[in-house]
Amino acid sequence: MRRYPGLCQYCGAEVTRPTAAAHLRACRERKAALKGKTSRRQSVYEPDVYYIRAEATYWPEFWLDLEVSGVAPLQDLDDYLRAIWLECCGHMSAFTLGGWGTPQLAKEAFVADVFRHKAKIMHVYDFGTESWTTLKRISVRKGQTTTRRPISLMVRNRLPEVVCLECGAPAGWLCVECVIEEDRMGFLCAKHRKNHPHDNYGAPLKVVNSPRLGLCGYTGPAKPPY
Ligand SMILES: [Zn+2]
Ligand SMILES: [Zn+2]
Ligand SMILES: [Zn+2]
Ligand SMILES: [Zn+2]
Repeated sequence: MRRYPGLCQYCGAEVTRPTAAAHLRACRERKAALKGKTSRRQSVYEPDVYYIRAEATYWPEFWLDLEVSGVAPLQDLDDYLRAIWLECCGHMSAFTLGGWGTPQLAKEAFVADVFRHKAKIMHVYDFGTESWTTLKRISVRKGQTTTRRPISLMVRNRLPEVVCLECGAPAGWLCVECVIEEDRMGFLCAKHRKNHPHDNYGAPLKVVNSPRLGLCGYTGPAKPPY
């Protein structure tokens, strides 16, 4: 079984999807980041903070563990997913309860109002060449977030190891024509990228850490916005 490795964004330790939550509870660097964020006196208003796992629905190697303020609107999650994974040319997006045909959730809705009741919702970017993300509630705590931002990136998947379809060496490029016209993941190494015969969709794209890879000419930057 694949382990889907990821990296703790506080200390750099390698974790897996099953071990991430336990690591975050014990992570010293995260504890240091949280220190001083919890008031000594019990504050009158301690907001809910949600541990949300974002998984590319059909490509589970791509996953993010996020800590999200309950008073943030879903719009903040949309913005974050676009920046780190999805944005190519400003397509429409939506949150739904469970995929097409299920009720949509307003982007103005507060994260707490949604995840208090729902353990799982879905996000879709681009209604033509869809990218689906499943958002799961892992846990909830009372307190402050580690930063002033509404979302903190706690764990991000490692870039999956992909191999060249010609020789099996580690690959850094993807041929879109292979994907669209030959229905195969056309990953290529530096050597085989040069004499690859396809050019109907332009030169092979650099592999980036995003499940949008190969869709709509996506080239990244696939970097967290903060
Ligand atoms: Zn850590
Ligand atoms: Zn696009
Ligand atoms: Zn090769
Ligand atoms: Zn090709």
